[in-house]
Amino acid sequence: MEPPESVPNAPPLVPGTLYLVATPIGNLEDITFRALRVLRGCDVVAAEDTRHSGRLLQHFGIQKPLVSCFRFNEARRGAELIERLKGGQIVALVSDAGTPGISDPGQRLVAAAREAGVRVEPVPGACALVAALTASGLPTEEFHFVGFLPHKSGQRARRLQELSALPGTLVLYESPFRIQRLVEELTLAMPEREVVLARELTKKFEEWLRGRPAELATRLAERPRKGEFVVLVAPAGEGNEVDLSLEMGRDQDPEGK
Ligand code: SAM
Repeated sequence: MEPPESVPNAPPLVPGTLYLVATPIGNLEDITFRALRVLRGCDVVAAEDTRHSGRLLQHFGIQKPLVSCFRFNEARRGAELIERLKGGQIVALVSDAGTPGISDPGQRLVAAAREAGVRVEPVPGACALVAALTASGLPTEEFHFVGFLPHKSGQRARRLQELSALPGTLVLYESPFRIQRLVEELTLAMPEREVVLARELTKKFEEWLRGRPAELATRLAERPRKGEFVVLVAPAGEGNEVDLSLEMGRDQDPEGK
């Protein structure tokens, strides 16, 4: 039997509300009932990439007008969207994956909406940082979300030095093109820390790698991996017993992607 796509007595959507709708980070099953209800019930979907989100909507049989809202038009598009919201329209904001506003467009629009007295409601769901942190085994009671480091070498080195002084687990995002570089930078900035690489979360070739930065750098050099990574760094003094037997992958990804 197909599961129901709503729960009894779900409150109706509120006109004039900006809904921040989280979407899957790789596994379409991670969409929520409420996300689908908001996407079905809104007047317009504001998307980081309209083609990408159009495919997501199509998968769930949803047809809605889409407008783009990405880093370089967020200010101008935001003003248009706020006018629509003030006129009573319901706007759903989505990014390419995960939670809007987390290393993705959204924060400026939300700030402008609140400034304009527009109602904002989160529709929580997938977020790579939460998925990686909670399943990493590293301390969760205090953590620092860094997102992406700057691109320039000097700035990265300085930032990593600053971060090494912070308590709690560090959580970084990194692209597959710079993962080797980041792990090598960690060998200089935080050589004794336990590092966890959470790769391709929620996807078929999800994989977890853990060890000291130098060990991980060697392993990535031996077998480069593609795909998306969250990089977690244990607090100083934690995880001195790095147990490599804890490492696991769902399947061995033959192409390392
Ligand atoms: N808004 C998203 C969220 O809620 O997590 C993050 C978007 S940010 C542009 C993309 C980065 O998130 C990737 O470079 C990677 O660091 C991380 N990421 C997203 N999906 C991931 C996944 N399935 N596995 C591992 N990391 C992922």
